[in-house]
Amino acid sequence: MSDTTPVERLQEVRAGIARAASDYGRDPASVTLVAVSKTFPAEDVEPVLAAGQRIFGENYVQEAKAKWPSLRERYPDVELHLIGPLQSNKAKEAVQLFDAIHTLDRPSLAEALAKEIARQGRAPRLLVQVNTGEEPQKGGVMPGEVDGFLEACRTRWGLTVEGLMCIPPAEDPPSPHFALLHKMAAQHGLKTLSMGMSADYDAAIQMGATHVRVGSAIFGSRPRAQKSDSGA
Ligand SMILES: *Cc1c(COP(=O)(O)O)cnc(C)c1O
Repeated sequence: MSDTTPVERLQEVRAGIARAASDYGRDPASVTLVAVSKTFPAEDVEPVLAAGQRIFGENYVQEAKAKWPSLRERYPDVELHLIGPLQSNKAKEAVQLFDAIHTLDRPSLAEALAKEIARQGRAPRLLVQVNTGEEPQKGGVMPGEVDGFLEACRTRWGLTVEGLMCIPPAEDPPSPHFALLHKMAAQHGLKTLSMGMSADYDAAIQMGATHVRVGSAIFGSRPRAQKSDSGA
């Protein structure tokens, strides 16, 4: 990977998404690339912005807060997505900073977000994370609790949920998880499906992903300790 640049890899990923979409009979424009820039400093992100990418994913509120305000001054049309677990006490900063939050997964967080959205008059798009593999260490609503949680989001907290997100267990083939998420979204009439990462975005597009979250295939590998689900 080190003989190519992030901008070259961005173009490869874009081409890969377009190819997967047409292979599976989908409009390439129906799949949005969220470039996951977590752990990479602003100077690594800048060339990717300059190459035209505008939608980025971050896992950590503090890191995003340090990195993005200055980049946003130069690229005001950037769209920032929070894809990592969110602590309720960071709901205020998350609502200020992010345009979409993919990790709504519990009542206390729904309540905290509803309060901040009302207070700030700013409403990030919301996705409910589903723990399709029912892994105890992972965030996300258990599949059996999705109906009740979506209902509570709407009636109890007045939140509009736009879609669902999942991170399949690392050791499983991902497609059954993507298929389950697709089915649950269809049952609830939800249009946004955030699924698929560097290793499996092709399978996710086959199963209906509208947003793929791709990090290492663009920016290169990250230090191990910072990987995936380890806390905002
Ligand atoms: C880090 C991360 C990604 C990107 O993973 P890659 O394998 O580097 O593409 C996607 N989604 C979530 C939730 C992540 O934490």
